[in-house]
Amino acid sequence: MILDGRVVARAMRADTRQAAERVTAQRGRSPALAVLHPTDDAAARSYVRALVRAATDVGITCRIVPLAADTTRAQVLAQLAQLNGDPQIDGIMVQTPLPVGCDAAEVSRAVAASKDVDGVSPWNAGELSHGRAALLPATPAGGMALLRHYQIPLVGRHAVVIGRSAVVGRPMALLLSHAHATVTLAHSRTANLAALVRCADIVVSATGRAGIITGEMVRPGAVVVDFGINVLADGTIVGDVDFAAVSTHAAAITPVPGGTGPMTTAIVLQQVVDAAAGAA
Ligand code: NDP
Repeated sequence: MILDGRVVARAMRADTRQAAERVTAQRGRSPALAVLHPTDDAAARSYVRALVRAATDVGITCRIVPLAADTTRAQVLAQLAQLNGDPQIDGIMVQTPLPVGCDAAEVSRAVAASKDVDGVSPWNAGELSHGRAALLPATPAGGMALLRHYQIPLVGRHAVVIGRSAVVGRPMALLLSHAHATVTLAHSRTANLAALVRCADIVVSATGRAGIITGEMVRPGAVVVDFGINVLADGTIVGDVDFAAVSTHAAAITPVPGGTGPMTTAIVLQQVVDAAAGAA
């Protein structure tokens, strides 16, 4: 079974559009997202363009705050302070790469927890570890939504998550644990990764290493979630998982592209509307 993020994200965006209409009717203005946008980066430009298109399509207003390469740390923090206090803004996203001199941890701390629709602030990370975060890290939340949509059983299953970053791997491990999976969190220093993965009912890869999960590593019937986005020399985009080799015997697998990627944006939009509704 292919875990099709494009199909599920489309259905989620349709629900979000209805929720946005309700919030707009109640509050007299549409939900609003501010995006701090590093304008000198081509990848960021294309991501922000796609995000604004998707947001506008579901009835979310976007305010783009340009970050030139020479924007200072103080200017970024001042922008965030202004947006945190702006009653017309419900959600804030800071797109990377940050200007030189800005510390990612400091910037994520500077986003108000109630407007942190990408779920990156330390406050929301702490709430997540307690199992009660209202705004989740968008990428792992998207992976979980995909598993839920396809009714993949998680309770009592052994999940091996490879990658422990604060935005993808580690929160995914927490979300799986909250869903009662038994979780092993692996990383670059893990000994015997292949043997570990072979024991997994659910394999989640978030390393950014193309082909790190091979066909022999995945046992027949396992469910595979691939967060990796890797651009090969010829421009092809692939995941961390050798899709051709693994898809022959996995029970379910996310493709790249078209798996976890579209889910991330769908979750951000949903969380903007949640924040606007005061549910966050
Ligand atoms: P990071 O580089 O922050 O983290 C990578 C993790 O992988 C680290 O924990 C690292 O271990 C681990 N790792 C690296 N090499 C190996 C190895 N050989 N064996 C085992 N573990 C390894 O990346 P992110 O978490 O930010 O992103 C991960 C991937 O997800 C990237 O490809 C990124 O592009 C993609 N991504 C996808 C999104 C989506 O929407 N689908 C959104 C965001 C990111 P250690 O901690 O020891 O260094």
